[in-house]
Amino acid sequence: MTGAVPLRPHVRSNSLLEQMRRELVLTFHILNREGQGNEVAGHVTARLPGAKTFWTNRFRLGFDEANLGDLQEVDFDINVLTGGEVNQALLFHAAIYEARPDVNAVVHTHPRNAVALASLNMPLLPLDQQAAIFFENIANYNDHEGVVIGKDEAREISKALGNCRGLLMTNHGVVVTGKSVREATVGAIVLEIACEIQLKAMAAGKPVELPRASAEHAKAFLSQDDHIDMRFEYWSRRVLAESPHVARDLA
Ligand SMILES: [Zn+2]
Repeated sequence: MTGAVPLRPHVRSNSLLEQMRRELVLTFHILNREGQGNEVAGHVTARLPGAKTFWTNRFRLGFDEANLGDLQEVDFDINVLTGGEVNQALLFHAAIYEARPDVNAVVHTHPRNAVALASLNMPLLPLDQQAAIFFENIANYNDHEGVVIGKDEAREISKALGNCRGLLMTNHGVVVTGKSVREATVGAIVLEIACEIQLKAMAAGKPVELPRASAEHAKAFLSQDDHIDMRFEYWSRRVLAESPHVARDLA
């Protein structure tokens, strides 16, 4: 416990929508702090369960610039309900939400270790127990058509993801989904660390993989809501303690 910083400082709203919007702002800053902000590239979206719209950062803003007033609500045809420009690359988020009622948040970033591992077009290996949340739960996608993502590629990305939580996109980046923005955030951080570990292990020798039973046990333990909450709250406290302007925005 950090003393002056309340344990759940961002869960102040009695509205589920407002709570989700606040956690989405925090997610942008958490991922930026973890090195996953990439100038104005990458996107994170979240929706309320069952909603046919989702929320994201205003087009042209970096992760570090996210704030409540600049969040956009976008429909599945990528119209901005709250006004302003929109990033057409969000088409694949809509495709995933349409295909996966269980998914309520999507992170798409280009973190260096994940991009490096994805460029090898090889699977993520269960080398450390943290990465076990992706055990038999992450796919590879290597049909990337270029920077601009249209409807056809959006469908292909969603198809490649299938029922998995994550996707390694060759020559591009990652997609990490979650039933909540909290779960997607934790997954995105864990995936980048797991990719770094795998690259280092492969460079040094032949890594030993977690036995199946251990991987399944770790996956179940680390996927518990309480565990996800604990980690998201921790990262939130760090952002709020280090970034007074974010704390003011969410106060
Ligand atoms: Zn991208």
